[in-house]
Amino acid sequence: MRILVTGGAGFLGSHLCERLLGEGHDVICLDNFFTGRKRNITHLLQDPYFELVRHDVTDPFKYEVDQIYNLACPASPPHYQFNPIKTTKTSVMGAIHCLGLAKRVQARVFQASTSEVYGDPEIHPQPESYKGSVNPIGIRACYDEGKRCAETLFFDYHRQNGVDIRVVRIFNTYGPRMLPDDGRVVSNFIVQALRGEDLTIYGDGTQTRSFCYVDDLLEGFVRLMNHDSFIGPVNVGNPGEFTMLELAELVLEKVGGKSKLSFHPLPGDDPLQRQPDITLAREKLGWEPKVPLEQGLDPTIDYFRKLLEG
Ligand code: NAD
Ligand code: UDP
Repeated sequence: MRILVTGGAGFLGSHLCERLLGEGHDVICLDNFFTGRKRNITHLLQDPYFELVRHDVTDPFKYEVDQIYNLACPASPPHYQFNPIKTTKTSVMGAIHCLGLAKRVQARVFQASTSEVYGDPEIHPQPESYKGSVNPIGIRACYDEGKRCAETLFFDYHRQNGVDIRVVRIFNTYGPRMLPDDGRVVSNFIVQALRGEDLTIYGDGTQTRSFCYVDDLLEGFVRLMNHDSFIGPVNVGNPGEFTMLELAELVLEKVGGKSKLSFHPLPGDDPLQRQPDITLAREKLGWEPKVPLEQGLDPTIDYFRKLLEG
């Protein structure tokens, strides 16, 4: 198949391009390089079945493709809050452009949605039926509401125009090729520990997240995209839940060194807890994660060690 991956030079997108090429597909990677990096995909540039396009999803685009994975959107809070208006535009207009293209060329289109659609959740763990608790005027809203609106557009294009959609709700995912200055907690803690700096805990560190290794996540993506009839939305994430203090302890144990913890104010609207209910993914996709945090941290630490040395 010929497959378009928007945001293909980013953390998840570059792994996805690699996987799709490995499966024998023709891949078009579209990215504006806001948080994506050429180094994530330079090893793919020699492949005759890989094409790279510098483009912004807020402007329309047209390609004859069979499938579209829409991943274009900054994912880390400091990056999506850098230009919040642009973040909303990227989610909403990016979705409209992907859906319009899918309608025109009859492609199947996949939306990388997020656990952020649940906001600061009142029920725990979160099933897909939970409608969420998002502050529409807070500092995370540009991302959360942008992604919620994108889901709305996906389901309306599906109902109104019969567009063939797939929607996945991704929970915190980590692995090699995250940016070292990304601002997300896993990359921050590892980079700080490798540099011998103190690990920055926001709030008292008792807030929780559930961390999924990138390879597990991509298996869920591909299973959903190639499912005959199940369109989602479906949670894909690792139910193993950790406080930020536990994560810091684990990283320090693995990296060693003299780093201590330093405490900083909790950013606005930071969810207190998050854990996916993956019953639906198990039932419909036969999917569950295989890599525990303890194990997935090793290749991630190796990646950052080499990057910092380089
Ligand atoms: P990332 O920031 O590494 O990747 C996003 C990519 O999109 C980058 O390559 C960036 O340059 C590109 N991009 C941003 N705005 C664009 C625009 N206007 N036009 C074209 N390209 C643009 O983040 P990631 O972790 O790889 O996330 C990929 C997708 O998955 C995002 O949509 C994100 O919201 C979603 N997601 C990720 C996680 C996670 O934990 N990694 C969790 C939930 C959802
Ligand atoms: N966090 C932290 N220290 C950091 C970066 C983040 O304690 O250096 C916290 C952050 O406040 C949040 C959690 O870690 O509670 C996860 O943050 P991240 O930005 O990785 O993802 P998200 O909040 O979007 O789930």
